[in-house]
Amino acid sequence: MADAADKLETYRAKRDFGRTAEPSGMAAPAEGDEPRFVVQKHAARNLHYDFRLEIDGVLVSWAVPKGPSTDPKVRRLAVRTEDHPLGYADFEGVIAEGEYGAGTVLVWDAGPYRNLKAEAGPKDEPPMTMAEALEAGAIAVELEGTKLRGGFALRQTKMGGQAKNWLLFKMKDEAAEPGREVTEEAPASVLTGRTLEEVAADAAGA
Ligand code: MN
Repeated sequence: MADAADKLETYRAKRDFGRTAEPSGMAAPAEGDEPRFVVQKHAARNLHYDFRLEIDGVLVSWAVPKGPSTDPKVRRLAVRTEDHPLGYADFEGVIAEGEYGAGTVLVWDAGPYRNLKAEAGPKDEPPMTMAEALEAGAIAVELEGTKLRGGFALRQTKMGGQAKNWLLFKMKDEAAEPGREVTEEAPASVLTGRTLEEVAADAAGA
């Protein structure tokens, strides 16, 4: 199995660490007891939300153009992107003009998560590690974030013949909130309380 350094090759190849404030991921942070998730709001050429799950030493990542929803009826396109270093979970700031992903990033939600497939399913589905669920294209996790809580599923659909295309959706449970648009109601950073505009203004060195 590829180790974290191999998995981050694409991430590093896309970036000039002399020019971007993003972490290079060369110093591997210690992994905690519980794996973490993070959702970063990213005002690149198009605004999107980067949904990331810590799996085997890297942040496996999807770009979600419309962001996550807490309404189980809403399925959001999630496009798999390159694995990011664990240290990226705390990155909030501005990626310089001309660099890959140029634009403002804030930490929209974060927290620990639990693999809901770690134990056998109700219909005798075999237990799966997160790496196995990723490979199978069917992830189910329980998020303990500030904004996102309860079960969320990621399912690989290969829509349009593209292996990178997945769907992200809320599972039906007590934390589901039909009809709520959480991205609109809670737009700011969970790390600093700042909006995208405030992060950008601070970076401009006001
Ligand atoms: Mn992004």
